Amino acid sequence: MPGFEVFGEEEKKEIMDVLDTGVLFRYEFGEQRKGIYKVRTFEEKFAAYCGVGHGQAVTSGTAALKVALTALGVGVGDEVITQCFTFVATWEAILDVGAIPVFAEVDETLNLDPVDLEKKITAKTKAIIPVHMMGAPARIEEIMVIADRHNISVIEDTAQAAGAILNGKRLGSFGACGTFSFDAVKTMTTGEGGMVVTNDENLWRQMSEYHDHGHDHAVNPGGRGGEGRSFVGFNFRMMELQGAMGLAQLAKLDGMIAAQRKNKAAMKEAVDKLPGVTYRTILDEAGDSATFLAFMLPDADKTRKVNEVLNANGAGAVYFAVNTWHYYPEWEHLLAGKTLAHNGWPFKDPASKRKVVYDPKSLPQSAAILDRTLVYQVPVKLFAERLAQITAALEKAAAVV
Ligand SMILES: *Cc1c(COP(=O)(O)O)cnc(C)c1O
Repeated sequence: MPGFEVFGEEEKKEIMDVLDTGVLFRYEFGEQRKGIYKVRTFEEKFAAYCGVGHGQAVTSGTAALKVALTALGVGVGDEVITQCFTFVATWEAILDVGAIPVFAEVDETLNLDPVDLEKKITAKTKAIIPVHMMGAPARIEEIMVIADRHNISVIEDTAQAAGAILNGKRLGSFGACGTFSFDAVKTMTTGEGGMVVTNDENLWRQMSEYHDHGHDHAVNPGGRGGEGRSFVGFNFRMMELQGAMGLAQLAKLDGMIAAQRKNKAAMKEAVDKLPGVTYRTILDEAGDSATFLAFMLPDADKTRKVNEVLNANGAGAVYFAVNTWHYYPEWEHLLAGKTLAHNGWPFKDPASKRKVVYDPKSLPQSAAILDRTLVYQVPVKLFAERLAQITAALEKAAAVV
């Protein structure tokens, strides 16, 4: 998965372009920068790669979610539906704009179940955030039909699925916007960084202004408008060094995905040795970015036993059912409504006396799936010794199923 596996001369060259001008900043410095606009060029190329009109670079994938939610007008009093299997960042961003995350079940895609999504929609639902977890799509086409019927905006959290495709379209290009992360473990990395892509010119303008204190960048790309401010903003600006990294990594993205697909197929051949094994539903195998291999055993007991053997033989898989960063019943700080705000905001709203309470047992369908699911991360570079170690461990584990 991580793009840092393939750092090389290309990244150094892009970085040196920036250091040679001395302009580390994405806006202004028109003369000194000698025409070099790394962040802007990265935005243009990443948006074009995703097949959409606009890209807005920001400081992280979490910032991308917050900027998108803010630009869509989500705030206090609103609910945002997302899935119970995701990284904490998805709901942190929802809380940070003052809205309340509502969690829905995942199905065997390991992503948002459209049937449960529809049940969770209320008059307060202002946005839906399906997450394309672990490199493969949520049922985004079905989700869009439901969202459109209810007139609710969709933000695709595509942090883990840059480059993946569903039926000829890049993930991140189905909803009102798609958000990406380029942090340490993502398929392409800029160190820290994120992006929002959209076809909606007005939404892009709002994100652009909000992410830079309200400055208008549409009238003077590369600089700032300075002719007045439409609304209050914040600072989520990406820096030129990150834009430079992004350009080098984007050029390698398709190659990384091709390598991962090959490695995933080899690992899958080894996993096939487990009696009764099944796999996560992948809606478009040819479009899979192949960052992870998720497989299911017949029951939770067998799953735990298999992973014990895998762990003892140097090839342990990730068991997300007990993972404290990616799965709802394990998020004890969320369940307890812990916040630094003295009045408990946003779980408690001092004005309305509202208090949000989460029940860790409220999503049994997801529990039944994740209790049986093990996951291997797929590396860009899979060495023969490592594959042999995984294969040997799986052969031993086959005996306990
Ligand atoms: C990594 C990740 C994020 C957040 O990205 P950062 O760049 O680390 O802020 C958001 N959502 C998902 C699903 C992620 O995996």
